[in-house]
Amino acid sequence: MKKIVMKFGGTSVATGENIRNVASLVAESVKQGSGVIVVVSALDGVTDELFEAAEQARKEKQAYIQAFKQRMLERHCIAIKKAIKNAAVRKEAEQIVGKIIDELEKVLTGICYVGELTPKSKDYVLSFGERLSAPIVCGALRDLKLKSQAFTGKEAGIVTDSNFGDANPLFNVTKHQLKERIEPLLEEKVTPVVSGYIAATQDGVVTTLGRGGSDYTATIIAAALAMDEVWIWTDVDGIMTADPKIIPSARLLPQLSYQEAAELAIFGAKAMHPRALEPIMKENIPARIRNVFNPENPGTLISSETTTTRKDAVKAVAIIKDVAMINVSGGGMVGAPGSYARILDLLGKNGINIMMISAAASEANISVVIRRSLLGRALSALEIALMGRGFASDVTAEDDVSVVAAMGANMKGTPGVASRIFNTQAKNEINIRMIAQGSSELNISFVVKEKDGKAAVQAIHDEFKLDII
Ligand code: ASP
Ligand code: MG
Repeated sequence: MKKIVMKFGGTSVATGENIRNVASLVAESVKQGSGVIVVVSALDGVTDELFEAAEQARKEKQAYIQAFKQRMLERHCIAIKKAIKNAAVRKEAEQIVGKIIDELEKVLTGICYVGELTPKSKDYVLSFGERLSAPIVCGALRDLKLKSQAFTGKEAGIVTDSNFGDANPLFNVTKHQLKERIEPLLEEKVTPVVSGYIAATQDGVVTTLGRGGSDYTATIIAAALAMDEVWIWTDVDGIMTADPKIIPSARLLPQLSYQEAAELAIFGAKAMHPRALEPIMKENIPARIRNVFNPENPGTLISSETTTTRKDAVKAVAIIKDVAMINVSGGGMVGAPGSYARILDLLGKNGINIMMISAAASEANISVVIRRSLLGRALSALEIALMGRGFASDVTAEDDVSVVAAMGANMKGTPGVASRIFNTQAKNEINIRMIAQGSSELNISFVVKEKDGKAAVQAIHDEFKLDII
């Protein structure tokens, strides 16, 4: 029996019709003799709405919560009606969903009363999206005459530390519990539906694995149960050479190594949760990115092999918008041990993730790239802490920039890649503001003005002929 974990993202289960489509894709594989474990995200946009509702509750907005509850109930009940035909199965799903939404209302009301939202209670609120989607997908499978059972991440046995909002799985207990609770079902021809993204601490307190964490749930389960493959079902054909919205001639990449795919995930190519590949890379389990709306397409295969037919170094080029660059400079940093550490530590303590760093050997300045929405917070933290101490004399920022990242496994050890990348920029009269190449040599990233972003990506796509197989 071939054992597959199938993860369905938010758009795949956005509506009742979509959920039916998902159920029939699963049913097809099960009827062909595969053992399938389904991992689902929340209905598209629900996690964002829960985020907002938690904030509104913190601000003690009772009326908002009432309206929100009604909205959630309606959306999920409409989905049930479209996804499940059998009256008894439908009724059961409605009851489960109704109960979960009552609980959600109580939680939000509680937050409203205390007017405080801790990372712990926030994770609890965020867990409701996946708690609601799993029973509906389970019902849709049963509607198609499959035996199925729904689990939250906690019920399935996924245990994490208590780093709320971005919890880390404890692999040994998790594996043990998944083996006990989920694995036997496959033998009994039952299809388990596990809610992605959410887990629990050893004490049973609900945690989340970080945004987009359903991918991670899928690969944790795959590694723990030695599954044969992980299929990440999404709303695009697979991983592309560039964002097709920017580069119309962008092409699907049929195959990538784990390292290449991880590199792309980190660079926001909307491929996967950045840590999702770790568990399966260790166990050498291949992953496939596939399109629920175009299942004929085999998608992108991610595995340990680099059986690429292309010899050229660059395989894909990504652009990250919505970023800002901060430059800290000052003679006081030269030859002063710990000066960079202080800057990075400050940003970290303020919850600001650094996406890219560059510091020249002059040691007189360091540049970092962060999400644009965090710029105000970063600048005020840096200014308060650093200015007037003779340490850093100037903090400047640019918020009209983008990061361009070129990547590919063959870049490693190939001379001349950087010169080709930057030559094409020069030919297009694009000024480079900042550069970084990790010594992994799998990617070269640089910062340009936002208005030059499209041309910068196009130039690399053309130079390395990425539109040709
Ligand atoms: N629902 C969660 C999110 O939107 C997890 C996921 O979709 O993978 O981040
Ligand atoms: Mg999502």
